[in-house]
Amino acid sequence: MNEPFIRHHEYNFIKQQTKIMQRTMTTDPKVIEAVRYSAASKVVEMFPEVTGEQKQLLEKISTLKSTDQYQEYLDELAPYVVDFPKVTEKQIKKLFPKNKKLTIPDLSEVDHKSLTYLGWSDIATSKVFMVYPLNGEVVGVEGRFTMANKKDVCSLCKGYGEVALVTAISKAKSSQSIDYYKAVGNYMCIDHHKCNQSITDVTALERFIYSVMG
Ligand SMILES: [Zn+2]
Repeated sequence: MNEPFIRHHEYNFIKQQTKIMQRTMTTDPKVIEAVRYSAASKVVEMFPEVTGEQKQLLEKISTLKSTDQYQEYLDELAPYVVDFPKVTEKQIKKLFPKNKKLTIPDLSEVDHKSLTYLGWSDIATSKVFMVYPLNGEVVGVEGRFTMANKKDVCSLCKGYGEVALVTAISKAKSSQSIDYYKAVGNYMCIDHHKCNQSITDVTALERFIYSVMG
């Protein structure tokens, strides 16, 4: 059995590349070739440590032509997508020990195949919670959210839509004063499901988590 090696955001990236290829409305073979080549090289670049077989599978993107082929290709890659770690309610509670009445989403309904991070909001307390496997260790960060009441670019997925300003207090103390904690604020999608479908790069997400964890 082949080992999963594609992380969820990487799968999104590949999907995005197939969309770019499909949207290329031209009959100029040179342009088509260039778009295909660009998609394949971007995808392969994302995986510097793959085996020859895995590379072949990724490079196949450059041969796709019909709508059916694009879908078949994405279906073929799906079994190679790394599942989000199975976390229990107990584990989640441990990640947020200060929240005695922590609301936890129904974990039986979580699709572990289509998650980069597990995020949910508690409207009553205006808090947002995020769980993410950071270098193999599941970590949790929480922040406060303020509805932006406008559309903007999400800092995590770079998608444009309904966002909230999420502010988190960094555990790292400021150098100016030992009593002063640094706050980090970012616009993020209100809809975590949509965000997970759009995220193609985890740099901003990890930066946010690192800055909160201190
Ligand atoms: Zn987003």
